[in-house]
Amino acid sequence: MSIQTSNISKLFGKQRALDQVSISVNNGELVGFLGPNGAGKSTLMKIITGFLRPDEGELFVNGKKITSDNLEYKKDIGYLPEHNPLYPDLYIKEYLEISAGFYGLKNVKKRVAEMVELTGLGIEQHKKIRALSKGYRQRVGLAQALIHDPSILILDEPTTGLDPNQLEEIRKLIREISREKTVILSSHIMQEVEAVCNRVIIINRGKIVADGGIAEVKSGNLGQKQVVFAEFKESVSKEQLLAIGGIDSASLSGNIWELEAATAVDIRPAVYSFAIENKLILLTLVQKQQNLENVFHQLTQQQN
Ligand code: ADP
Ligand code: MG
Repeated sequence: MSIQTSNISKLFGKQRALDQVSISVNNGELVGFLGPNGAGKSTLMKIITGFLRPDEGELFVNGKKITSDNLEYKKDIGYLPEHNPLYPDLYIKEYLEISAGFYGLKNVKKRVAEMVELTGLGIEQHKKIRALSKGYRQRVGLAQALIHDPSILILDEPTTGLDPNQLEEIRKLIREISREKTVILSSHIMQEVEAVCNRVIIINRGKIVADGGIAEVKSGNLGQKQVVFAEFKESVSKEQLLAIGGIDSASLSGNIWELEAATAVDIRPAVYSFAIENKLILLTLVQKQQNLENVFHQLTQQQN
């Protein structure tokens, strides 16, 4: 199942919680919405799940435009809302049976047993929700979201508040589930998205500020500054390097030149050609990998 939003905006009073958001998530992807608190992640998720209507723009599911009279696609979405609202007085199985009933599923008992198995609720399955730890409550939330075997899963901050062991277990579970489904999760923690997702969409103040593979976003190769390290066997002057197209600054530390360029085009081929043309031996040529945290701060601290 694929999802596209086209120039979606959402206003709360005068505030633009989402501003012209266009994203496209393909079938089978595991995508993270990353952004500081208040960025608009939950709002975008609610619009995708059909719980909230955008004020401007359009939502397409499998290429089909969604309007108020074709919301059947909602049956194919599993949604774990932020704060995972559960009913503490219900037993796990009761809650899951009610969830299954909501979708009109047959063989409810069998389906509930399958979900208990899949989400690792086995040893706790006879307890009331009230008695569960946060990690197990998240498992119940995931079981609820998966009960009708949706092809897309929307998980709003699924790992917030978990301890390190629970965190690793829930991440593993999400990765397993994502083998068969399209998964979108949100987080305000970069390590989280880095650990789980293949692709990251960074949202800040209602706008998309980066969208790409984790490695691509980390390389900074998104139109911002890029840094390349180059080492030549022979000595090379700064002026020679600055004459290479795209390079804005060059500084030498030890034998290694740090070359900066404010372009999205990879400057390594130009540096390589420069070496060949000048009969220089190039010993090192690598792009500096920024960590996602730096990229995130760079992108989310810019004032609009
Ligand atoms: P995130 O999930 O990234 O933390 P949200 O999507 O929850 O961000 O919120 C985006 C902005 O919209 C925030 O400033 C929030 O206060 C505002 N907002 C969200 N929902 C409502 C609402 N129902 N009424 C008014 N403002 C809202
Ligand atoms: Mg949120």
